[in-house]
Amino acid sequence: MTVGSGGAAVEFRSASKTFSGKHATHALRDVTFTVREGSITGVIGPSGAGKSTLLRTVNGLEKLSTGEVFVHGTEVGTLGERRLSVLRADIGMIFQRFNLMAARTVAGNIEYPLKLAGRSRAERKQRVGELLDFVGLTDKAGQYPSRLSGGQSQRVGIARALASRPRLLLADEATSALDPGTTDEVLALLARINRELGTTILVITHEMDVVRRICDTVAVLDHGRLVDFGDVYEVFAAPSSDATRGLVDAAVHDRPSGDVLARLARAYPGTVVSIAVRDDPSAPDPAEVLVRHGCRPRLIYGGVSEVGERPFGSVTYSVNGPDAAVAAALSELGTAAYRHELREQVQP
Ligand code: ADP
Repeated sequence: MTVGSGGAAVEFRSASKTFSGKHATHALRDVTFTVREGSITGVIGPSGAGKSTLLRTVNGLEKLSTGEVFVHGTEVGTLGERRLSVLRADIGMIFQRFNLMAARTVAGNIEYPLKLAGRSRAERKQRVGELLDFVGLTDKAGQYPSRLSGGQSQRVGIARALASRPRLLLADEATSALDPGTTDEVLALLARINRELGTTILVITHEMDVVRRICDTVAVLDHGRLVDFGDVYEVFAAPSSDATRGLVDAAVHDRPSGDVLARLARAYPGTVVSIAVRDDPSAPDPAEVLVRHGCRPRLIYGGVSEVGERPFGSVTYSVNGPDAAVAAALSELGTAAYRHELREQVQP
């Protein structure tokens, strides 16, 4: 058995998975990255990108064709069933559809993994009480899952996943079946688990908004390949693939494109300029720079929100004034500014 490097909760090394069949499917192609201990790492990509396959290799439900995956330094592929079950006891799992047992109460669902682990009745009772309190469901202990809302069901799923105090929590599309308000609640709970318990969380999602709100690190998969990886803010600010750029645009909605741009350009004559807003209090205010150079800026579009609790987005101005003044202002704003090239309306 090979041992992975320290500080890593999960390490994928040249991980590849091919499903054979009439047509071979390359679900994972040479994927290498590390999930740092104590991080909330998101794995994102469109449907079919290989996310679930990747996740299933972490707890040994799927074996890699080539390459390795290490969990807390142990190579998963080399483990037999007995050692796999020891490894799995240290990994909590939450699911899109909650996977609660309908015939057991809320308390019974949370208690179940503790029963399987052979814990005493007194120990189970105490732990279930703590967990119900932690997820805010003490008053629902005796209810059955059919009586719970989606958000409550997911909180039960989370409490059950935490029962044996795992160091690693795998969240597989955990908010995809929830409405926006409930999604907020569940994401806040996951962030609290990471902060207060120090649990590493590996989040599988197709929604960049989930990554934007709770992850510190992100891995982007596209057709089984890792096309972007790193600090969430850095990846949002400088995506290195078209797949990532598309995901960022969908999550931030900060720049006008296509029809919107054409509509704005018709209504507000001038040079249309988008300017990135980043986490830099010392950067000059773009409107102030434009005015100082003798331009007349008018704010016509924009979206500034937060990525990893830091300001992120862009604002779009229609800028009027002498060409030289516009050019000088854009030059001062440097790479933060982007001048939209508007296609001429050609009359047939
Ligand atoms: P995602 O979770 O990103 O939607 P998956 O990991 O489920 O992607 O699937 C990646 C690719 O592998 C898809 O083309 C899928 O059809 C294929 N795949 C997944 N599981 C199997 C399997 N057991 N047998 C054959 N092909 C599979």
